[in-house]
This record gives sequence, C-alpha cells and structure tokens, in this order.
Amino acid sequence: AFINLQNSKTNIHIIGVDSDLFFTANENKDTFKQLAQAKSNVTYGEIQSLHGHDAFLIEFEQMQQLLKGVFDANGKSAKIKILKFGGKSLSNGEGLGRVLEIITNKVKNGENIAVVLSAREKATDQLEAILNKAAKGLDYREDFENFERYQKHTFKNINLSEEFQELVKLFEGVTLLGDYSAKIKDQVLAYGELISGKLITKLLIGEGINAKLLDSRRLIKTDDSYGDAKLLEDVSRENVIHEFSNLKPDEVPLITGFIASTETDETTTLGRNGSNYTASLIANFLDAEELENYTHVDGIFTANPEFVSEAQRIEQLSYSEANELANFGATILHAKTIIPLIEKNIPLRVLNTFNNENEGTLISAKSSKEGIKSLSVIENEALINLEGRGLLGKVGIDARIFRTLSQNNISVSIISQGSSERGIGLVVNSEKAHLAKRALEMEFESDFQSRDINTITIVSEVSVISIVGQDLSTFHKPYNALIKNQIVPLLFNNTISGKNVSLVVKKSDLHKALNVMHGQIFGISKKVNLAIFGHGNVGGTLVDQILASKKGIEERKGINLNVFALANSKKLLLNKDGISKKWEEEINEKGIPYTVEHIFDYAKIHHLENLIAIDNTASQDFVANYFDFIENGFDLVSSNKIANTLGFDYYRLIRDELAKKQKQYLYETNVGAGLPLIDTIKLLHLSGENITRIKGVFSGSLSYIFNTFSEKDTSFSKILKSAISNGYTEPDPREDLSGNDVGRKLLILARELELENEFDDISIQNLIPVSLRNGSVKEFLNELEVLDDYFSKIKDNQEPNHVLRYVGDLYGDLQKEKGKLEVKLVSVPKESALGQVKGSDSIIEIYTESYGEHPLVIQGAGAGAAVTARGVFGDILRIAEKI
Ligand code: ASP
Ligand code: MG
Repeated sequence: AFINLQNSKTNIHIIGVDSDLFFTANENKDTFKQLAQAKSNVTYGEIQSLHGHDAFLIEFEQMQQLLKGVFDANGKSAKIKILKFGGKSLSNGEGLGRVLEIITNKVKNGENIAVVLSAREKATDQLEAILNKAAKGLDYREDFENFERYQKHTFKNINLSEEFQELVKLFEGVTLLGDYSAKIKDQVLAYGELISGKLITKLLIGEGINAKLLDSRRLIKTDDSYGDAKLLEDVSRENVIHEFSNLKPDEVPLITGFIASTETDETTTLGRNGSNYTASLIANFLDAEELENYTHVDGIFTANPEFVSEAQRIEQLSYSEANELANFGATILHAKTIIPLIEKNIPLRVLNTFNNENEGTLISAKSSKEGIKSLSVIENEALINLEGRGLLGKVGIDARIFRTLSQNNISVSIISQGSSERGIGLVVNSEKAHLAKRALEMEFESDFQSRDINTITIVSEVSVISIVGQDLSTFHKPYNALIKNQIVPLLFNNTISGKNVSLVVKKSDLHKALNVMHGQIFGISKKVNLAIFGHGNVGGTLVDQILASKKGIEERKGINLNVFALANSKKLLLNKDGISKKWEEEINEKGIPYTVEHIFDYAKIHHLENLIAIDNTASQDFVANYFDFIENGFDLVSSNKIANTLGFDYYRLIRDELAKKQKQYLYETNVGAGLPLIDTIKLLHLSGENITRIKGVFSGSLSYIFNTFSEKDTSFSKILKSAISNGYTEPDPREDLSGNDVGRKLLILARELELENEFDDISIQNLIPVSLRNGSVKEFLNELEVLDDYFSKIKDNQEPNHVLRYVGDLYGDLQKEKGKLEVKLVSVPKESALGQVKGSDSIIEIYTESYGEHPLVIQGAGAGAAVTARGVFGDILRIAEKI
C-alpha cells in the first residue's frame, strides 16, 4: 500500500510504499529525527535518498507508532482526497470561480488533495465536431475560432498558443488527408484536458497555491486501442506512486483526466467521460480516503430533474446499487469507474460545484436501508424488429443476430422475444439503427429468400426507461398509471436478478411517462392536472377551495392538485405550473379565446399527466366535448347534469367510451349537491341490494319555498322573492318551479339503477301557470302575485297537520327496463320524514328489500355553491386517488 502524509504543523512529509517497508521523506530531517528520538522505541535507519528526498528506512510497526504520534496530534487523517471536476464545473465565469475557491479552501485547511480535471465545457464534443468537418473538407475555421475564444476567454498571462498551434497542425493534416485515424482523434481530443489542466494550474498559482500540473500521459499507461484504451495497471500504479512521492509538501497536484499513453508514448484516451475513470484510478493507486466528484447537479437523483421536477436526491447508495444505475446511463457511476473504488473501499461522493450547501450523494460499501429506486433513461434509441414465421423453433438465430451486431460494434440494450418466436425486438442506439438493419439484412439474406424472415423494421425515436430497484411484484402500479395516461409501452422486460424493469416508450411519451411513473414508485406527491370549466358560483368557489387546501392535500394525501386551465364560455387561462389566487384578474387580462383543442395541445406540449376535466357550466354545448376529453386522456367530473339526462343512447355511448379508454366520470353533485347520494345508491345497487323506491325532496330551492310557505302565514310570492334574493333559485326561478330540474335528478338516479328511462317518461307537475311560462324573466318577476291565490288554495285544502312538499318519486317494478318517475307537489303529514325537513335541505328516502318499510334516509344541505363545490372537490379527489 501507499501512503502520502503531510502534517502541516510539523512540516513532515511521509511517503510509504509496500506493506513492510516504509520510507519517510521529509523536508526538515531534523524535525523528523527529533520526533523519532522522542519515541525511544523507534529506531530509524540510515538516511537515504529517495527520488531526491532525504528518506529514513524504518520498519512497518515502528512506522505506525511514529505516524500515530505525528498525525493524531493533528486531529485529522492525512490520507489523500481526490477531487474531480467535470466540464460544466470548469465553465467560464461562476463555475471556474467556484472550482478555484473549493481547491483553495481545502488547501488552506491543510487538507491533502489531488485534483483530476476534465476538459472545460463541451471542449471534447467541439473538438470532435471540428475534426469531422476537417475530414470532410468543410470549413471549420469559425468553429475553431469559437472554441479558441471560449477556452482562452479573458485570461491574461496564460499562454495557450502552443496548444492551439498543435491543434491547427493536426486539423490541417486531417483536411489534407480527408480522413483521420483513431490515433489522431485521441491526439486532438487530448487537448481538451491539456488546455484545461494548464489553465487551471496557472489560475491556482495566481491564487497563491503551489499547483503542479501532472500530465496523465506520463502516469496512466494503456494498450493502443485508441478511443477506448485499456489500462496497463502495474506500470500506471508505479508511475503514480512515484510521481506523488516526488511532490513537495505544499505542492498541489493537478492531473489531466481522460488521457493516457501507450508504452511508446502515443496519446490515448480512456473513452468518453473517462476523466471519472482517471480519478478512480488515482484514488485506487493512492489508497485515497475519498473521491469527490464535482458535477453541476446536487447528486444522484431518483430521476433526471430536468424531466421530473419532483425527483429527489438519493443520499446514499451502495457500490452495487450505483452500478445498477450506471447500466442505464449515469456516466459517473460507470462500472469501470466504480470497480477501482470497490477494490480499495474508497467512498465516492457526487457533489455540486455550484451548491456548496449540498451534501450530494455518497456511494460506499454501505447500502441504503430500503434499497434504492431510481428511474434512468436512455433517450435516443431505436427499436429493430425482426419478424418471420420461420423463426419458430429455429436454432441459432439469436446467436447470429448478436454476432452480426457485435461485428459491427453495435451494442444491444434490450432484447425481447415472445415464446412463439414469431419476432424478435432489439433496442440499439438510434445512430446505429440503420447500420444494424443493413447488417442484419445481409446476414439473413438467405432466410429472406426462404421466407423464414419476412421483415426487418426500425421504429426510430424511442427511449428506454429503466426502473432500477423495481421487481414485477409491484410493477402493476407504475404500469397502470402509464396506461391510464394513454402511454402504452412498446415492449418491456425485467432482469431476473438485478431487480430492474425496463420499458421502451416512444420518445415523445418519455417526459410524461417518467413523471407518471415517478409519482407512483416513490409515493411522493403525484401531480393531478385539472382543467376547470365555468367559474361562476360553483366553479369559482371550487377554484378557491382547491387553491386553499392544495398544500394540506399534498401533505396528507400526496396529491398535488394543479389547476393548469380555467375557462369560461369565452376565455381560457393556461398555466402549466398552476393558476394563482388572482385567477379572476388573470383570466380577464390574459385569457384567450379558445376551443378545447387548445387545451389538448397545451397538455401534450407540456407533457401533463393525470388529467381531469371539470364541468361546472350548465351548458349543453359544452357537454358535446365530453367525448373529445375522454379521447384525449381526461377523466371527467361534472356538476352539470345535462350529459346524464340526454337520450339514453348517448348515456350508454359515453359509458362505453369511458370503459374503452379506462376513464372515470363522476357527478355526485348532480343530485343533492354534496350529499353522498349517487355514490350510496350505486354501491347498494352494485352490491345486489334490490332498491324498490326512491323518493324525496330533491330541490333545495323548492324545499326552502314550500317549507317556509307551509310554516308561515306569508304569501307565496313574498316567499319566492326572498328565495330569489337569498340566491336559492336559478336566475330564472321558473327553472326550479317548472319541476324540470327535479325531473332530471330523478332520471339520473333511475339510470344509476340501470333503468333505461328517458326524460319524456317523467310525469312532471309544472308549478308555473301557462300564462307565465313564456315571457321574459323580468316580466315573470313582475307578475309573481298571480301565483298567490293558486297556492293558498292548495295549502288550505290540506288535511290537518299536513304540509306541502315538492317531491320526486321513482317507483314501480325497478327490475324491469323502465321505472315510473313522478315529480309533483304533495301534502304529507307534518311528523313524517318528508314533513320534517327544514330550511333548504334535501331529503331522500331509499327503500330497499333489506331495509323494508324503513328507508335509508339521506338528508342535509342539498344546494348552495359551497356545498356543491365541496362535492365536486370530493369527486376530483376520488379520481385523483385512483389514478
Ligand atoms: N472530456 C472527456 C469527455 O467529455 C472526458 C470527461 O469529460 O470525463 O468525454
Ligand atoms: Mg465530460
């Protein structure tokens, strides 16, 4: 093992190699001598020269004792820490500034560090792009100038001309040849790291740090597989240890990542993102205490936060969990990078350069308790389908496929084959899809002729989502959520051991799919996106109720209700992040004329999941959109009764459509406002209870009018007027008095019992004299006194102790196709259930076979904006919980 220890207080620098022999080298040999002498049992050998230092040869155990004395006193371990900075961390401006600050602070704290640097910003990509242009003979000057300008930025006194001259030469050569080798490419790409290394070293020196650039080509040796060179471990280890033993105590080593060289000193690279690998190797060789990998994100997340805003940082991962993630695109965690760390049990911390408050993600031998879960993505893939009848039972097809693909250096991320062997699906990188297809067509040419294989097709633009840490036992949850959101995976498979499930989806569905599944898997708030139509009494109250209780619902139920659309008959207000409490102002100012298509498009563009449309209008026109909503993936909630009282054919059709699209439609407030009426009746009916009659006061306004009229000695018109001014009636009170509203409610209940009644089947007693039925509202309101005589007579003609009630009554043989529906004014005994209702309450009696003569009675406020809005809210929550 190797140790490199510095004690800033005593200025002692100790370097050890191997397990039983230790050298100590030290700038100040007298200090060391004194220290050793002070510990009488420590004997030290001759002073020798080791790589130019004075060194003492002493035995291992004595060394240990000595170290104890020196380093415990200092209170901190002096094992080396490796810091690695990625391209985005090294960008001009804030990034670079922070990197300098992080390094300087550590050095000033006396920490023993080594720094591994990648190329700055997108240098590697840019160099590769210029190279390709040069090879094609295209004009790359502008790109090159941009590259140079960025890299040189405004740094003075830092001379990069040598590097740029070399690059100019290389590109000119490539232009002349019209081609380049993998070897040349590595030489070119190396400049990303070389420039970065030189620059940052100089900047640190400017900060007073004794920074020393170590060109990793002198340290890390590889074979000559350019572009993805393989490590020669022993020499590399030796080189690193040697180089580090030569460092002066206050020297801070900076190492270029990614690049290496062959034994004959040809530049090689370790594969894209290879500076992570360099850092792990250095950590391994030096037995580092920890590797800190500085990125531009806060750590490893449960999903990419750019796709899923609810994604959470994972605090801790085990190496093997990290490795699972690495298989799906987390480059920092690539197996190659993790293995050298596992070997020496070195923890890896993924940190954010731009956020020094954050603890990042710690990857070590310790596994997280519950086991981690994460969603990872490979974005740009293509699905290749091999189809043929002759594949059945044929041996060796798969082997041929894989041989062909591997010969073409195409790796397959997913393979799926049904047991019928009619077809095989393969997922490959989208850039390789056409090559793969051509190669397979060539390989299977004779099988085409023999018709064993019929087609090889490509589905381009697909993405692979992997749920790491997910097995099939609970997979139905995220899967159902996907289907409910109209995302049907093209294929999925699971690994038997590794506990992960992968799905292939259309790339256009990726964003939404991730969000939908993320909420399900992590049980963290699932977002439910609401489009609310109508913001009058009920609608407006509902919006306010939702905004007021949004936070509480998110905390208690994990449901994040997001009103992304609010509309009235003329204007639409859209905000994917949710409308604000000032919605009234906003819809006036920013509302736009619309059709529902606007809303569908908006939801699609912004990948909005879990959609619910809420109809609080009383409009017949709006109901015409219901099918479109279902078609576009919305569940429906409505306080609008119209859709349920149109023809029975329509009623059936909409339910068929809902079933087909697995959507829900709830309308509890259609009858008795917030009272749990429809739900109760539905439940009784579904459970097989035989409902024999439903009877009651369904209209809050008529309840108020007749309760008061029966009670008080006041004229009917006066009571009606007070009902109007209290807002108990519709703007045109005739809608209540006509009995149509009660008729509709009764019909809705009948249909819940699967009766096929139509509106015309209802016998309705219209309370408005014929003469008053047709004029304007105003005319009607001026002639209310006409009603007084009529109702007084009815009131007086009652038996003693009776009161008037306007009731709906559903009876008859309810097992038949149709029931009898009657809406009428009746006189009932005062002490009966119906006779006892007060105020504007509704009361509904449900008679069933089991309940016999004693009906189930549901009673309470059956009208009013607040209770109706509550009822609508309840329906929304019921759906939200299920999706
Ligand atoms: N600069 C190299 C690349 O972009 C290595 C790295 O950044 O890790 O692939
Ligand atoms: Mg990079």
